[in-house]
Order: sequence, then C-alpha cells, then structure tokens
Amino acid sequence: MQRPFLTDRLAPFGTSIFSEMTRLAVEHDAVNLAQGFPDFDGPPALIEAVSTAMLEGHNQYARSMGHPLLVQALARQQAARYGLAYDPMTEVVVTSGATEAIAAAMLGLLRQGDEVILIEPFYDSYPACVALCGARPRYLTLRFPDFRLCPDELAALITPATRAIMLNTPHNPTGRVFSREELAGVAKLAREHDLWVISDEVYEHLTYDGLAHLPIASLPGMRERTLTISSAGKTFSVTGWKVGWCFGPAAMVAAVQAAHQFLTFATSTPMQVGLARFLDQLDASFFSELTAAYTARRDALLGMLRGVGFELAPSQGTYFLTGSFHALSSLDDRAFAATLVRDIGVAAIPPSVFYAARPQEARHLLRFAFCKQPATLARAAERLRALHASGPAQGRGPGSEPLAGPAGLPDLPGLLG
Ligand code: PMP
Ligand code: GLN
Repeated sequence: MQRPFLTDRLAPFGTSIFSEMTRLAVEHDAVNLAQGFPDFDGPPALIEAVSTAMLEGHNQYARSMGHPLLVQALARQQAARYGLAYDPMTEVVVTSGATEAIAAAMLGLLRQGDEVILIEPFYDSYPACVALCGARPRYLTLRFPDFRLCPDELAALITPATRAIMLNTPHNPTGRVFSREELAGVAKLAREHDLWVISDEVYEHLTYDGLAHLPIASLPGMRERTLTISSAGKTFSVTGWKVGWCFGPAAMVAAVQAAHQFLTFATSTPMQVGLARFLDQLDASFFSELTAAYTARRDALLGMLRGVGFELAPSQGTYFLTGSFHALSSLDDRAFAATLVRDIGVAAIPPSVFYAARPQEARHLLRFAFCKQPATLARAAERLRALHASGPAQGRGPGSEPLAGPAGLPDLPGLLG
C-alpha cells in the first residue's frame, strides 16, 4: 500500500478557510466579505515607487535579512512611532509577508515537544506552524461578546514545557485592541516564566475611536524576549505583495534569520526598494486618512449587520467585525455561512475554524471584512436585507420577492471612500 503523500504534521489542517470561502464566493457570485483583502488599490505613489525600482534594475536577490534601504526605513519608523530602537542590520528581518515571519520565528525558536500558547480564535497559520515544528499548542480562549484576555486563564496554561506565547493585537478576527492592562498581564507572566512572545501586529495602523496600538515589546522587560511582526499588506492595501518583517533582539532575530535563509532566502527586491522610498516620504496624514476611511467603512457595515439582526460591538481595530447571528438562525456558523453565500449572496468567515479547544464558542458567530469599497458594502447591504424578515433560505432563490429593509440601515452609497 502506498504511503500517504501528506505529512502527518499537516494532515489535520485541510484547506485554509480563506481559499474555501473565496472559491464559494466566486462560484455563487457573492459579495466577498470573507477573505480579508481590500477591493481597492494601494497608494499610487507606492505602486509607482515599486515600478520605478523595477525599471531601475533592482531585480536581483536582495540581502537575505532585508534590503538596507528597507530595514533602515522600518527601524526609523519603529523608533519614531513607538520609541522602540532596533539596529537595522542585525535586529530586523524582511520576510515574504507576515506569514513567513511567523513560520520563520517558530521554526527558528521552537524545539520538538515545546509548548506554545495560542490565543483562540487564532490566525490559521499559527497552529499549522506550531505543528510543523513538532511543538504543542495550548489554547487560551476568548469569548464573545467582549473577547477579553484573562491573565489568570493564561497563567493556568503555563507548564515547565512552555516556551512562547503567540500574541496578535489588533486581533483578527475579534477586532479587539488589547488594553494596556491585558498586555501587562501577558508581559508579567512572560517575565516570570521566562517565555518568549511572538507578537503579530499586522493591523498596527488600523485602530479606531482614538485607541492607540501598543506593541508589547515596549513594556518593561519585554524588548529582550519579544519578536514583533508586521507587514505592508494591510496598512498599504497591497496584500498580494507579501512583504513582511520581524523586529527583535539580535540573538532572537538571528534564530528567525536561520530559518528565513532556507525558507525563501530573500524577499522581492523591487518591492523592498519601492516600499522603503515610499515610507521615507510618508507623513502622518496618511495614517489619519486611513483611520478615518476605515472607521466610516466599519460603521457602515456595523449598522448594516445590526439592522438585519446581528448582535455585535464595533471593532476596536483590524478590518473585521465578528458578531452573533443567534437571533437569525439556529444553524451553526459553518452551515449559516454556507447558506449565506449560496442563498443571500454574501460570503463571510465561520470563525469556529479559528478555535481548536472550544469551537462551540463560535457556533453562532460570523466574521465580516470591511476593507471594501462603499459600492461593495452597499451591494452586501442590499442582499443582507433579505435575511431580516425571511431567513436565509429564501434569499435570492427564483421568485423570491425583495424584502423591504428595516429602518436603521445606513445610506451606504453616500459613504466616504
Ligand atoms: N497575521 C494576521 C493576524 C493576519 O490577519 C494576516 C493576514 N492576512 C497575516 C498575519 C498575514 O499577513 P501577510 O499577508 O503579510 O502574510
Ligand atoms: N488575513 C486575511 C484574513 O484573515 C487573509 C489571509 C489569507 O488569505 N491567508 O482574512
């Protein structure tokens, strides 16, 4: 009998929900509020800077740890924004997206049998990377509706085998921006038990309502044990470029680099050169406009979802809203997401796939992305109106009458881009 091709370490993970839902969205011609990618382009000046770099001939392998122009620009930004000083040549690695940085961090740091604490709901690559390392995940569960991180529950998961905590703030999919108190609780335990923190901060620039992003590396005693990961994809609306990076103390970054050099060796050179030049001419107005535009999109989607019966709070960060549909259906999240994409024509993510220990916590939840143009959100609103009175099964089916929308749905076409 032939041995299975797929290694045991990856066999449990199947196909990523992002690929699955985007495929279903295309198949059913649905509005895709599932996979988190903007349906608009990044800043023209950035695209021009990358094109220019290519035309200038920046087309061969970059320095493995990152093009000097980019690591310098990133280090300047981290110092100016958060007061975190890193040596650009030894304390930064540029990777192919944050996804590679996460993989390289775990592959570089973890040994067989080490335990890593993951916060569920998690970004789906975390448990897969832990498994690739032969390490073991332990899960801290966040619960709807407030998704608070409880340091006492975290403390209860720590054993002599625990080596690292994987953190993500602003948090996908809950939209939480963890408070200073929550982060201080994590930091205290990390210091007391000599744990590393791998902090995924790809949504660092997407925080709302005056909340500021706080890198855990900036808390006392944390810089020396923290890897801080981010990426250009979310901030600059270029998720397809896959340029990410990782900051940390030199010895920790050397471990990441040890893996990175054999995973991809280096990241796209013209992207790095173009991004570096763009970062150097960026001013604060870029970030305030980004926040304003995303706040408007968040509020539009929030109003629309509440209007049709979802229970949810405004997200504090990221470009996701996660809420409960318990008033609309008794289906579980996967079944409801399937009905929604097929019968209503809107794709969302069933977040139980982001839980391992307690998937039932997400049984009545769905995640929607609002990194979409006003016209896209308006189209979703129109379709979601069908949910309100009829229930999902009578959405776009032949002969179904369009239902009058409930009061309170926002006037989406008037929304700012
Ligand atoms: N971490 C989180 C929490 C994310 O949501 C994403 C994005 N999709 C990533 C990492 C991956 O980022 P990148 O596309 O830069 O690999
Ligand atoms: N980060 C995005 C999301 O959460 C998409 C990631 C992906 O497609 N792998 O939707």
